[in-house]
Amino acid sequence: MNSNHVAGMLDTIIIGGGQSGLALGHHLKEQQRNFLILDANPRTGDAWRGRWDSLRVFTPAKYDGLPGEPFPADPLSFPTKDEVAGFLEGYAARNSLPVLHGTRVERLWREAGHFVAASNGQRWEARNVVVATGVSQAPNVPGFATELAPSTVQFHSGGYRNPGQLQDGPVLVVGLGNSGAEIALEVNRTHPTIAAGKPGGELPVKHGRTAARYFLPLVRFLGLHILTLDTPIGRKAAPSFKAHAAPLIRTKTKDLAAAGVRLVPRVTGVEDGQPVLADGTRLEVSNVIWCTGFRDDFSWIDPDLLDGGALPRQHRGVAFDAPGLFFLGQEFLYAAASATLPGVCRDARYLASRIPVPASSQALASST
Ligand code: FAD
Repeated sequence: MNSNHVAGMLDTIIIGGGQSGLALGHHLKEQQRNFLILDANPRTGDAWRGRWDSLRVFTPAKYDGLPGEPFPADPLSFPTKDEVAGFLEGYAARNSLPVLHGTRVERLWREAGHFVAASNGQRWEARNVVVATGVSQAPNVPGFATELAPSTVQFHSGGYRNPGQLQDGPVLVVGLGNSGAEIALEVNRTHPTIAAGKPGGELPVKHGRTAARYFLPLVRFLGLHILTLDTPIGRKAAPSFKAHAAPLIRTKTKDLAAAGVRLVPRVTGVEDGQPVLADGTRLEVSNVIWCTGFRDDFSWIDPDLLDGGALPRQHRGVAFDAPGLFFLGQEFLYAAASATLPGVCRDARYLASRIPVPASSQALASST
């Protein structure tokens, strides 16, 4: 779309054009709404393209489609991150979704009863706003990372692409979630590798085609319908999912141990420029990869829209504190699957039914 595009009063602005924003956009298009998707990246799918080179999704292709379109691959296969990016880009084009790229919303506030989103000196106004900015907003790196010796190569998993970024010598992977486990297994092929932390459980079966056929349907059902904020077990599980302690899916601790990765307790600090573990051990490493997850960053949203807090108060994405404000795609927004492809599709469908229809459209609908 033309970057000089300036709209009048829109029905809805979707901030973020990843899978969440596109899925919702599909429904709003069906409803013939006047909406716009603002996205910070230059191209649709860039959130996936920017992840590490060897990444394949955990969800089989049969669950990776978006509203109205199955994922174009063998249903039991696990697409690469570039295949997912390509699918999203094609989906936006095939559905003629109005995405304005290179537009990072820097401020969102309410003015005269509607919302205003501002980016790079431009502003857009709408009656409704959906924040679909994803789960990878700000890398969560402990403060003591700055105390590591300057000679240490260190970066967050969000900046990891391949082992070519590392210098010679041992690698410490901090954090044993899915990213940490997969990255540790990969860098261990070229560097002696230590993985610090404790996983939040492990999938009890081997991940692959057989699991995709028989076991992952059960996981999907649990993630969509049982582990939700409407069930006691879901409410109990939500905090650990939000802390990125989801169970290990493909690479398990026994795979890491068998490959020769040294498993150690959590990193608790830095001493003389080197990482120190919870048991007091000081490690000697040349590289550190922080697989410590991401944190939400809604600092660009006027605190009045968040009841003065840092995080939205919402149910199923409908904000309590600002009528017309919605959220989509965040970790455990409603269910354990809320930040995955199957989850965003369900949550997007729900939100599309909750975003108020403008009075003029209602009048139009009732007269036809
Ligand atoms: P994103 O894909 O992150 O898109 C958000 C978009 O918002 C981006 O394009 C960004 O440019 C834009 N944006 C952000 N801030 C602003 C702003 N202020 N203004 C304008 N635009 C903005 N999910 C699965 O279903 N299956 C998997 O196997 C799977 N594996 C994963 C593996 C890894 C390593 C990671 C990190 C995630 C994985 N996920 C998987 C989860 C999934 O990719 C994310 O949850 C998903 O990308 C979220 O989709 P989204 O559209 O909500 O956010």
